[in-house]
Amino acid sequence: MDTYMNMKVGKVYIIGTGPGDYKLMTLKAVECIGLADVIVYDRLGSSKIKHLAKADAEFIFVGKMPDKHIVPQEEINKILVQKALEGKCVARVKGGDPFVFGRGGEEAEALVKEGISFEIIPGVTSAISVPAYAGIPVTHRDICSSFHVITGHERPEKEESILDFEVLAKLTGTLVFLMGVKNLPEITSKLMVYGKSAKTPVALIEKGTTNEQRTISGTLDTIEAIAQREDVKSPAIIIIGEVVKLKDSLRWYPYGPLGGKRVLVTRAREQASQLIARIEELGGEAIEFPTIKIAEPEDYESFDNALNGIKNYSWVAFTSVNGVKAFFNRMRQKKLDIRTLVNIKICAVGASTAEALNELGLTVDLMPESYTTEALLELMLKHVSKGERVLMARADIASKELYSGLINKGILVNDIVVYKTEIDAQNKQEIVKLLEEGSINFITFTSSSTVINFVKAIGSEGMQLLKGIEVVCIGKVTAKTAQEQGIMVSRIADEYTIDGLVKKLYDKE
Ligand code: SAH
Repeated sequence: MDTYMNMKVGKVYIIGTGPGDYKLMTLKAVECIGLADVIVYDRLGSSKIKHLAKADAEFIFVGKMPDKHIVPQEEINKILVQKALEGKCVARVKGGDPFVFGRGGEEAEALVKEGISFEIIPGVTSAISVPAYAGIPVTHRDICSSFHVITGHERPEKEESILDFEVLAKLTGTLVFLMGVKNLPEITSKLMVYGKSAKTPVALIEKGTTNEQRTISGTLDTIEAIAQREDVKSPAIIIIGEVVKLKDSLRWYPYGPLGGKRVLVTRAREQASQLIARIEELGGEAIEFPTIKIAEPEDYESFDNALNGIKNYSWVAFTSVNGVKAFFNRMRQKKLDIRTLVNIKICAVGASTAEALNELGLTVDLMPESYTTEALLELMLKHVSKGERVLMARADIASKELYSGLINKGILVNDIVVYKTEIDAQNKQEIVKLLEEGSINFITFTSSSTVINFVKAIGSEGMQLLKGIEVVCIGKVTAKTAQEQGIMVSRIADEYTIDGLVKKLYDKE
């Protein structure tokens, strides 16, 4: 231990991330992933884990390689030790619970040997949660009083099974086999040979707690043929016992009008949360593909000049929530009091832009009924008097129509860029893979710019994979842009809100 005296030694968190549904992660898991400099993983389970990590965290994959090569446990232990000795905070993430067939114990032993400090963050194990998502309680007072979690995949090098099927067959509790899909014929036949009734109910639950969860069921003597016919694949658990019968009456997942559906959300991350929450509430899975990042403007000169001379303006016009955020962030940074806006009238495009202003305690004076720049221009021409100065807080890519329209009518407009948008193709590969598998049901576009950015971010390779996927847009303008880009639009929400868009996902009328 002395050798470490003058060094900063890191810490390793051995974390269970649950069975698949990312909301089954513990608060502590979320916190520790957020602290980590290095994330060591074999299966991320959910892409959401990436979003929880620090932007500059290093990800080390130690799972099955494409050539089926498996990173040996000793090697994984070495990586954990080495990174901790470098002073790094390491998150070793594992599916389910790290100590339930997760080899977390072996890793902790390696850390103890090197005197490295660690914490174990238990996770929700698939052994209990996956049956629960299939409506199967592992115990029930009227049916059984124990459950047993068993590996269905023993170490291949072992000559004789250490599982004593004679004992297992006599147990009256529920039997839960993990990693057992390949050995299903052996498991069922041995249990029957040792006297378990051939009519004992059995369920196989594949990809539990995810949007692709599938349950198939039968009895000990029929399940093998059914599993073959249904082509059940790993990860799946096998659950054996009378409790399986409850699944028909307790079925609850997937639920809601979007149950079992995957929806691609192309909004910038900062603005996607409301749409994601609505999709999840309705039982769907939201896949984030932000395509743009909000960034600071190239320079602040004109922005700062405008803020310093804000008293010279009669109006400030905001065309987006981002514009509102950027404007008031800069005011805060420059320590400008909001009361400097006291005589200024405010104009906003879009209900969410107005809402963002309301949250700051500001009431909007002017808001067009339809959320387009043309409508705003018409309205402003009615309300802004000649000689009044208008400050427009906009993005670098915003349309120039409003600006030139006002200028042409003799209204003095100062058009400033308060934020910039950049293409974000970070998780393109993940999205392309999902598109290839055909596992995305809907793509949503909330504005023309999300369409343009999506096309840029996904590239021609991704564009070829859009056939057959339902594309849903907010408003005709967005839909027109999508069509111009060669995207077939299937549904258009006339109500220009997130709710309007979400309704179109499950309601075709
Ligand atoms: N530590 C994990 C288990 C690792 S062993 C836990 O506590 O859940 C891997 C096995 O877990 C798989 O072969 C499968 O049997 C089971 N499993 C894990 N996630 C699953 C899921 N989402 N659906 C069905 N089975 C799952």
